[in-house]
Amino acid sequence: MKRASTLLTWWYLAIGGALTTAGAAASDDRVRWVLELVAVVMVLGTVVAARVRHLLTSSLSLLSAGAVVAFGLSRLLPGDTAASTHLVAVVAGISGYAITLAALFILLDRRGVNVRNGLAADALVVALSAWVIAWPALVQPIIDRWGVSAATVLHSMHQPIASVVLFLVVTLLLDTRNRSVSAWLLGGAITLQVLADLVDDLIDAGHLATGFDRLAMPLGIAAAVCLGGAFLHPSLTTLGRTQSDDQQSTLGRLVVTIGSLSFPVIVLGATSATGTADKVVRTISAISLAVLVTVRVVHTVRANSRSQAALLHGAQTDELTGLPNRNVLLQEITNLLGRSWANDQLPTLFYIDLDRFKNINDSLGHAAGDQVLRLMAHRLRDTAPEAATVAYVSGDEFVVLHPMPSSEDDALAVADELLAVLREPFALDHGDVFISASIGIATISATSSSSPADLVRHADSAMYRAKDEGRGRHAVYEEAMKDRVTHRLAVETALHRATDRGEMRLYHQPILDLFTNEVTGFEALMRWQQADGTIVSPAEFIPIAEDNGVIVSLGKWALLEGLTQLRCWIDEGVCSPRATMSVNVSAHQLREPDFPDTVSEALTRSGVSASLLWLEVTETVMINDAELARTTLTRLSELGVRIALDDFGTGFSSLSLLQKFPLHRIKIDRAFVRGLAESENDRSLVRTIIAMAKALDLDVVAEGVESKAQLDLLRDMKCKKAQGYLISHPVPADAMRTTVAALERIDQFLPLHRGMSTN
Ligand code: C2E
Ligand code: CA
Ligand code: CA
Repeated sequence: MKRASTLLTWWYLAIGGALTTAGAAASDDRVRWVLELVAVVMVLGTVVAARVRHLLTSSLSLLSAGAVVAFGLSRLLPGDTAASTHLVAVVAGISGYAITLAALFILLDRRGVNVRNGLAADALVVALSAWVIAWPALVQPIIDRWGVSAATVLHSMHQPIASVVLFLVVTLLLDTRNRSVSAWLLGGAITLQVLADLVDDLIDAGHLATGFDRLAMPLGIAAAVCLGGAFLHPSLTTLGRTQSDDQQSTLGRLVVTIGSLSFPVIVLGATSATGTADKVVRTISAISLAVLVTVRVVHTVRANSRSQAALLHGAQTDELTGLPNRNVLLQEITNLLGRSWANDQLPTLFYIDLDRFKNINDSLGHAAGDQVLRLMAHRLRDTAPEAATVAYVSGDEFVVLHPMPSSEDDALAVADELLAVLREPFALDHGDVFISASIGIATISATSSSSPADLVRHADSAMYRAKDEGRGRHAVYEEAMKDRVTHRLAVETALHRATDRGEMRLYHQPILDLFTNEVTGFEALMRWQQADGTIVSPAEFIPIAEDNGVIVSLGKWALLEGLTQLRCWIDEGVCSPRATMSVNVSAHQLREPDFPDTVSEALTRSGVSASLLWLEVTETVMINDAELARTTLTRLSELGVRIALDDFGTGFSSLSLLQKFPLHRIKIDRAFVRGLAESENDRSLVRTIIAMAKALDLDVVAEGVESKAQLDLLRDMKCKKAQGYLISHPVPADAMRTTVAALERIDQFLPLHRGMSTN
């Protein structure tokens, strides 16, 4: 198809070339007239063809046909007859240009050239310059010869408007991606048309002998032929294609505009005015040109400084949150270090990271994640002290630089305030979400030799410490905190060998029944005891193991180990025969098709009944691959294993999810338990969770109980079970006998009034 139309174009051009030659050779005016008519009809044919093939929009094809007819008329109407016919011919010629102008503007606009401001103004400059040249060279001589009439007045507009058309074609061709065959042919057509009219005008002005008349007609035919070729060639499609990127050669256009400015100056300088009218026209033209150019320059300069300011703003500001970025933050720290400050001032960095932000992104989508970040930016801005800089550094991480806390306590109070405000629910389009954050704090000392980037890294390391200590809290940087990044790398390499070397341990945390005060079960929590004896927390290595897939084998080991341990404790009478073992299961494991087989194998090998095993999963499991998760969880509950929903409340806990999955327990995240004694908000939240669990006939365990006050409140709210440091830290297996014995002996977990009455 494409090749055929290319071939057709060349055939068309060949025939057109023959027509043109014949036109140039013909001595009879009537022959030339007929040839011209044929050329016009042929172009109209190509316009129709292009429209039918959808290579031209309807507006562009109408304009093209209009221009062809107008130019055709201007040439075909006999020039030597009545003045009225002549006037019609002149009007037709001007209209031809006007229509071409409109078509070119549409074409350029579609290509993303800034028509409204830059291009139109430049076109005006070109038109005025052309006028300044045309006035002494053409218009004045024509008036002198033919007198002032409607035709001569219209005639005077000829060259200015033709120059603008030429200018627009050059602009089109300056765009390198635009130099298709069609574009060149279009450029050629317009140039030939302008030349043909110039010849006519020069004859009218008396600069050329009437005999040159014979030249104008073939030029017109050639113009029509080129135009037809442009419409036939398949590259016509690229001509009107939208270009959004800003690759147009503004420089090229500048050269054209400046060039068209210098000529009038030369012409005005080289020729002298002949009369008063001439002087007036010259002066007005020169002044108008000067004013126009001045306005254009001022406008360009303004637009430039505006775009520069926008660029600078863009380089310093994060687009999503509207906050200054890391670069600005580092600069602020540099400025601060360069100043001296009072002894009682303690500039402080707060490194803020959302807890489980990934959950939100994974479960609710990135739009919700973005919404959280924007809301978070707002809250931080509103809460941080006036003088502080709030910057967005990356991902879900923000930094507040507070230049003037007067003491460490003052700084800690700021951190507490920030934590509190981030704990408030975030109203998203999906509904309210609860998120907590961890904050790392690093103070900047006047004598510090650390670079600004180092100082930020310190705050970052402290933030990870806050996460390790249970999230939703803050930690202050100490020299002893190792560089997180190098540490993580070391962890990753060592983790691969850890299971083979037998470095994994299970610690267990008892779960207490709040009504019977009995230890009803244990949660198995993994620890990694490295060769040098250091114990690595799962918060540190589980995410890495999840990233590299090692979690599957680690999880399998934990399952068998935990169950074997339970069998052992039951047999040895450490705990009741009804005590259960809770094992954490990561999303990765659940996605393994043979996971239910792994579970039943572990049950068989350990000799533990399925009803004594709890598997703890998080909400992310149910949102990603929901169907797969549901089938797997259903198979597991058919085995008799029970499923607990861990960290409840931190992700997107929707009621419909709870009903869709076979769940038997929810564990209230410690983030809500922590605030129980202080925050009415947390209290009503926990109360709601418990009521909901009751309605759905689910067991409830409160996590992270650290104080007696929290325990009493939970019991008042009819929470069934609890675990936490108050009851017992996670302990190694061999410490469990004494732990359980101590727990069952002491009555400190009984309700407060009973505890007091025994005192
Ligand atoms: P989790 O499942 O929410 O486990 C409870 C975490 O809370 C444990 O942290 C526990 O030590 C801690 N904790 C218990 N009571 C308190 C308290 O009163 N206050 C505070 N602040 N914290 C308390 P741990 O052992 O560091 O485990 C962290 C997380 O690592 C676990 O959170 C769990 O998501 C993951 N994890 C641990 N073991 C395994 C495992 O075998 N498999 C998988 N997939 N994940 C595991
Ligand atoms: Ca758990
Ligand atoms: Ca948990």
